[in-house]
Amino acid sequence: MIVGVQPLAGFDKLLHYKVPETLVAAVRPGSLVRVPIMNRSHLAMVLEINAVPDVPVAKLKLVSAALHEFPALTPDLIHLARWMHNYYAARMESVFEAMIPGAVRDGTRLKQEKYLTVPKTVNPDELAAIRKKAPQQARLIEFLQQQFRPVKKSLVLSRLDVTAAVAAALVKRGLVHEETRFIERVAYADNWTGGEVVTGLPPTLNEEQSTVVDSVGASLAKQKFQVHLLKGVTGSGKTEVYLRLIEKVLASGGSAIYLVPEVALTPQTVARLRGRFEAAGHRTVVWHSHLSEGERLDGWNALAKGEARVVVGARSAVFAPVQNLQLIVVDEEHEPAYKQDETPRYHGRDVAVYRAKLASAVCLLGSATPSLESFENVRSGKYLLNTMTKRVDDKKMPDIHIVDMRIEIMRQRGLVTLSRKLVDKMQGRFERKEQMILFINRRGYSSSMQCRKCGHVETCPHCSVSMTYHRADETLKCHLCGHQRGAPSVCPSCAAPDIRWRGLGTQRVEEAVRRVLPRARLERMDTDTMSKKHRFREILGDFRAGKIDILIGTQMIGKGLDFPNVTLVGLVDADLSMHVPDFRANERTFQLLVQVAGRAGRGDRSGEVVVQTFSPQADAIQFAKQSDFDGFAAAELEMRKKFNYPPYRHLIHHIFRGPNPEKIMFFAEHWAKQVEKALGDAVEIRGPTPSPIEKAKDEYRFQIWYFCARATKVVPELVRLQAEVKWPDDVTQVLDVDPMSLM
Ligand code: ADP
Ligand code: ZN
Repeated sequence: MIVGVQPLAGFDKLLHYKVPETLVAAVRPGSLVRVPIMNRSHLAMVLEINAVPDVPVAKLKLVSAALHEFPALTPDLIHLARWMHNYYAARMESVFEAMIPGAVRDGTRLKQEKYLTVPKTVNPDELAAIRKKAPQQARLIEFLQQQFRPVKKSLVLSRLDVTAAVAAALVKRGLVHEETRFIERVAYADNWTGGEVVTGLPPTLNEEQSTVVDSVGASLAKQKFQVHLLKGVTGSGKTEVYLRLIEKVLASGGSAIYLVPEVALTPQTVARLRGRFEAAGHRTVVWHSHLSEGERLDGWNALAKGEARVVVGARSAVFAPVQNLQLIVVDEEHEPAYKQDETPRYHGRDVAVYRAKLASAVCLLGSATPSLESFENVRSGKYLLNTMTKRVDDKKMPDIHIVDMRIEIMRQRGLVTLSRKLVDKMQGRFERKEQMILFINRRGYSSSMQCRKCGHVETCPHCSVSMTYHRADETLKCHLCGHQRGAPSVCPSCAAPDIRWRGLGTQRVEEAVRRVLPRARLERMDTDTMSKKHRFREILGDFRAGKIDILIGTQMIGKGLDFPNVTLVGLVDADLSMHVPDFRANERTFQLLVQVAGRAGRGDRSGEVVVQTFSPQADAIQFAKQSDFDGFAAAELEMRKKFNYPPYRHLIHHIFRGPNPEKIMFFAEHWAKQVEKALGDAVEIRGPTPSPIEKAKDEYRFQIWYFCARATKVVPELVRLQAEVKWPDDVTQVLDVDPMSLM
């Protein structure tokens, strides 16, 4: 047998090897193997079996080992890898790196442990009989019954002082179940959900929910590829719909993948999921970036072997090696976090859709504020739309008040952090012992330093972005390169003493709140405080327990949080996300407003939202006030159509970086001409121009935009041209297909 393999590092091409007799059984497409290349052993992925080599067979070397007994990638996943390679202009090896966890790629052998559980309750009569005949066996059963989760065998035996034969006898009778695991799984489950497993009976679905479950259920029954978009207002019970559909899939023997934008930020969802499925005896694999190698390998193996059939995780969980995939849920599908900002620059949602297609599975995209890309796919008939317009139990949508900060500034004579209206409402809530959340918009250039007199803004000497002011240690920091220095007390340009801070950092809002509500218990959540690993979960726990009155943080914390006692939400600076050079700025602002508003009034008392803005008439703000997604989408799509922006055309971002700006510009211009010659009408080229962030980490940045109808046509051409053109060594270039960030 001759195989074509793709080495996992350093060689971006297919190489051929012979497979020795002893390995034939273990070598299949998708298997990881070791092969000799220039006298060194390399890891490689088998892509072709019975391949036709480009050199004489006699010259071929032998595959030296197979890493696992089963392939690391299923045929679908290999196909998916090829698609990503072509679509995102990513090297195969980087695609494999994204798809297969390190521990699996290295073939790490981890220590295995045996675990014991009691699969079902032993009936009391039987137990009494055992107690009489074999007291040691009874002791073991009783002990295991008290444990909530599988326990390490060696630990149990020594604790109860019984022999392995005792356990073996019970395993044989089916009273005790034994399994092999790489690690103690309990560890991560507890770390990540605080051990919280939300149990309790599932609620009865309301009419809207049932309709959606039936509609998506019908697609599942057909076992054909179909994408559904679930547009459901915040609090309409989308998660419950996902759970029901996953239950259906599990019941019919299939597997499901549940994607969330960020696992660490959705401990509640994870707890709900585990509670539901583990109670029904389905092991749920939680996939996130903080897993240890062992945990990752364990989860991966369980999925690949079909021992676990449901996985919840962020973006990369879309590559989970599940068997018989029937459903992929993409929650908050509009979230930019689904796009990976390093090679391979894939979009988790789009990969999910493609994977579902390959597997003839159903893909369910859910959001209160769908992306315009997905919404347009509904309008053109590619996706089916399901809508939920009401909150569960007929809870009211919150009232949204818009405060015009221009007037507020005149009234209060000076820069204002909190408007009168917001302060009044906060004081009322505090007296009634209701909780509040204040959101700070971090998408813009916040907390920069601007002189009141001359307008000077302090920027980083290495990057052309404004520096962020940190009051705690009186420093200015660059969030791109990390450069920092002491904050000046007078304007560096005109020496005026009254230098002020534009934009509102979380710290500044915290101070303002302390002034008006000195007795309130506040907690601040942002990336600065969140670097302490478990702090985030702790704060959320305290907030839930009512130990915190006011939570202050960036919109990151808003995702999916469900705190029934929160009746007031303030958005301190709605505008910042509107003033960025990005055609999605309006869409982001609309999403932000609707999502943060969605955190209010989820309990018995209805909620209110106060939005502070300097542009109260903006479309994004007015449509959000009415919670009118359709209105917003219609207006925004019309604008996109007019300018021929996505979703009407694909956008490809070509970034050039290097130390010498003239050189980059010269080559970029030369390159643009080549592309024009080669691709003609297939692509519209804009640029080269300096990037919005002209300089970062001491490198100059230029960009070219390509607009095109078919990315699948254009990307491979660009890659082909790249290989033909000779580039100077000190110019780095990156292609970003369907970029989500335009900086
Ligand atoms: P969404 O994801 O749409 O914001 P969730 O699924 O989180 O909404 O649901 C909001 C709350 O309503 C949750 O606490 C959930 O347990 C509850 N819920 C969902 N469906 C029902 C139902 N049919 N009856 C009662 N409560 C429900
Ligand atoms: Zn910098």
